[in-house]
Amino acid sequence: MRTLKELTRPNVWALKPYSSARDEYSGVEASVFLDANENPYNTPNNRYPDPLQRELKALIAPLKGVKEENIFLGNGSDEAIDLVFRAFCRPGVDNVVAIDPTYGMYQVCAEVNDVEYRKMLLDVYYQFKASSLLSAIDENTKAIFVCSPNNPTGNSLCRKEIESLLKRFDGLVIVDEAYIDFSSSESLLKDLDKYPNLIVLQTFSKAWGCAAIRLGMAFASPEIIAIFNKIKYPYNVNRLTQEEAIKVLQHPETIKGWVNTLLEERARVMEEFVKLPCCVRVFPTDANFFLAKVYEATQIYNYLVSEGIIVRNRTNVALCNDCLRITIGTKEENEALLEALKKVEVE
Ligand SMILES: *Cc1c(COP(=O)(O)O)cnc(C)c1O
Repeated sequence: MRTLKELTRPNVWALKPYSSARDEYSGVEASVFLDANENPYNTPNNRYPDPLQRELKALIAPLKGVKEENIFLGNGSDEAIDLVFRAFCRPGVDNVVAIDPTYGMYQVCAEVNDVEYRKMLLDVYYQFKASSLLSAIDENTKAIFVCSPNNPTGNSLCRKEIESLLKRFDGLVIVDEAYIDFSSSESLLKDLDKYPNLIVLQTFSKAWGCAAIRLGMAFASPEIIAIFNKIKYPYNVNRLTQEEAIKVLQHPETIKGWVNTLLEERARVMEEFVKLPCCVRVFPTDANFFLAKVYEATQIYNYLVSEGIIVRNRTNVALCNDCLRITIGTKEENEALLEALKKVEVE
């Protein structure tokens, strides 16, 4: 691996971060806080939240088997994705490499930050070879993005190829595990200490059922996390979000229950889906959604909209011609979808 200094934008490496009142005094013994120009009324929302979300990280660390210094929390994983570009990629100079098709935010953040985005097409099984991604890199490639289980294809990527990337690429490898809780394959978190160039992304938006609170996690070496902390907005995770996350973390068994129910429904819905006349095939999935190839995806999408049922039309995405991405909902919602699709006639 290139040194972290070589990978980091020089201005970011040299940056002296903004030091907030809550950074300079973070003890709890004091009882009179006249340091942050807060309003003394309207407790508890009058106080700035903990910029490093320590109480929350103390709950996440044992759950994920990492140390608190390995955790960055942001306004959705989208914040962590954006920070990768802002921390490491010089606008107009550096580039990143990613699989295609995949989650759209990597490319959006690349373009916002004026960083070249190089896509490498997956094979027909929606898998990649490390050597293919590595053939796209040059001396200005700072990061490679992979997503496993992948969105919109749903499958987990081959573990051996991801590890091969981590070993052979001398820049950062971002592995987006937004759907890992639905997956039968293991998270890469256990290998965090083995790969200093690994950044794992997870989120509260999917299995944890908290998309509205906007809380994403990045796991990496303490050195990488320190760079994220240096350039993030000081109070990037608000108090209400921290409080709600602390609340849901008290009930991991509820989340396990949701995941199990969704996995059972996923199996049932896919089994029924392949029997539909409009279905060409369903693709294997490790997530809380599946990709299905149908006859005339756009026609079926529009028909479902007219029935008040919204799925994601992915027909214009690479390798996803005539494909719909279908999220697993409640049993009732899934039934509504299947019943509506039974009525579709195919010539
Ligand atoms: C849904 C999703 C996320 C979640 O993003 P948040 O900003 O945390 O809501 C991240 N990555 C992928 C691939 C996703 O599909």
